[in-house]
Amino acid sequence: MTYQMRKSEVKLGGSYAVTVYHIFQDQFTLEEYLGIDPSSYRKRLLEFLEKEIPQLSSQFRTLISSEPLLSPRIKYREVPYKSALPARIFDDLLVCKQRAYFSLSKAKAIFDLRMEFEKKQDIQLESKQMEVFFKVGNYWYKIVGVPDYVYENLVVELTITRGLIRHLLGRAVIYAYMCMRYGEPCGTLIVPTTIPGTEEGAIAHLVLPNSRALDYLAEELEKVIEGKFEAKRNNFCSSCLYKRQCQYSL
Ligand code: SF4
Repeated sequence: MTYQMRKSEVKLGGSYAVTVYHIFQDQFTLEEYLGIDPSSYRKRLLEFLEKEIPQLSSQFRTLISSEPLLSPRIKYREVPYKSALPARIFDDLLVCKQRAYFSLSKAKAIFDLRMEFEKKQDIQLESKQMEVFFKVGNYWYKIVGVPDYVYENLVVELTITRGLIRHLLGRAVIYAYMCMRYGEPCGTLIVPTTIPGTEEGAIAHLVLPNSRALDYLAEELEKVIEGKFEAKRNNFCSSCLYKRQCQYSL
């Protein structure tokens, strides 16, 4: 399989954005996907990852290095921290601050169906827990996450989400910073495991982290921690984990 790439700037909010390279299959492979079943597609996807990751890793090295990566918000050595948070809090944060607020206060009591569903996929990669210390306001927080796979300078995260990936970008940026503790600039490859559409469906998205995105995430998370935000109904409400308890879901 060969591939093509298209660059885009995805806005997070205000003047904050991240660069994403969308990776598309070639014409021949696109035609092969017509009528394929989901299981066969995931098998091909795994073959693609195994075969192409060394080349992607090397090709993306220069792209990732061109971003402003240094940030005073990140530490790898242990510092006194206020609490530990799961990296998935950034998914919730980019969906809606009310959801992040629920996750901060009640996550332990709620069974996260998204994680269980994604775990049951038939793509098995070797994953490992990673962490980073992240400064929000005056406090440090230990962010813990388990990306699906790490290959040198590339974190790979599989997802059932296809199409809009904006809500995954915060976690992708944090994962990339977690990976950078091992000494080289890293990016995150978001890989949808559902079959792409016939034309525009990308097979993966490379997220380039930058220090300004960290500032955005810290500022938004601080508002949630301090309870200084307003919420309203949004496109995610009907599938939200917290819709039964949220006053904005109806
Ligand atoms: S139901 Fe909607 S408004 Fe409420 S937490 Fe979920 S996404 Fe946010």
